[in-house]
Amino acid sequence: MRALRERSKEGLLRELAHLSILPGGDISINGREYVNFSSNDYLALSAHPALINAAREALSGMVGTASSRLMSGSMLIHKSLEERTAVFKDKPSALVFNSGYQANVGIISAFLGKDDCIFSDRLNHASIVDGIRLSGAKMFRFRHNDAEHLGSLLEKERGKCRNALIVTETVFSMDGDRAPLKDMAALKKEYDCMFMVDEAHATGILGKKGSGLAEETGTGGDIDIIMGTFSKALGSFGAYAAMSGALREYLVNTCRSFIYSTALPPAIIAANIKAIELVESEPSRRGALLENAGYFRERLLDKGLTVPGASQIIPIIVGETHRANALSEALKEKGWWVPSVRPPTVPNGEARLRISLTYNHSKGIIDGFLRDLGSLI
Ligand SMILES: *Cc1c(COP(=O)(O)O)cnc(C)c1O
Repeated sequence: MRALRERSKEGLLRELAHLSILPGGDISINGREYVNFSSNDYLALSAHPALINAAREALSGMVGTASSRLMSGSMLIHKSLEERTAVFKDKPSALVFNSGYQANVGIISAFLGKDDCIFSDRLNHASIVDGIRLSGAKMFRFRHNDAEHLGSLLEKERGKCRNALIVTETVFSMDGDRAPLKDMAALKKEYDCMFMVDEAHATGILGKKGSGLAEETGTGGDIDIIMGTFSKALGSFGAYAAMSGALREYLVNTCRSFIYSTALPPAIIAANIKAIELVESEPSRRGALLENAGYFRERLLDKGLTVPGASQIIPIIVGETHRANALSEALKEKGWWVPSVRPPTVPNGEARLRISLTYNHSKGIIDGFLRDLGSLI
């Protein structure tokens, strides 16, 4: 197909690698082992014995729920997870979704429509963009993490829209930097907007309890919908949105990605509950991770590299797509699995190596990587 040939020429063809995940998080492909720097299992909870046991116990009766939540798929364990999530996120209630993608697409298109406006960070995740498209609302994209630009767009456009939503990730998936939530919360109030955040990469990592950036910045009270996933630092699967009881009830009645999809299996729900408990009871995991991330970033900056952000996501901006691909290949030869991230996932000219640091990566592993990277650049 022509579309595929063109992608291939531009170095943009995507292919699936079929691999096995080894104990300790490394991966094996065709008999060769690699250190995995592309997993979002930030706290290495996916292989935590307590998580596996919780899933195994809940699995004893059944695998699938065979029904949507509103038919006969809503079990007591779903209610327990939602109550536990609400406490964790310090909101009156929460609703569980089958994935983060489904949550964003469904929530945004449930609340906003044709006469409304959505103010969205330029680098927001594809699932947010797709939710906006599906809603039919007018989209205004503000410059990445730029509250001043958001303010000027609101000043100009807010008066022309019925309802308005401001939406942002809290820790950005491809840049590892943080949204200015305090400034955005002030604008939400000034311009009477709904405010939604996506904590996919902050849940389990930031804040005293580990619940995310809203907790760390004390802005949770000003955010109407705090969405996040169980599939990254929490090591399991699925997503949540924490909010008021009224907003939750509205979604149960109108959110199509919630209504028309089979409920998550109890084994996954049990693992999600256990993951929240582990995040709260083992803060040393995120402490060690963030310390190592700081160490890693400093060494990269010492080498004169461009490394934006401040989190466990460490992007090394390479620039040109073919160069990023070549560097990724060369690192692979040396046993490091660091896929390049290319347009359209990131802007043109900003192809990069995205390193996801996890609890499995010691300082020794980081030093080894830095030596090999140094020999290639
Ligand atoms: C991964 C991700 C999602 C999607 O979550 P899934 O549970 O993997 O579908 C949504 N938003 C952001 C910012 C993400 O990084």
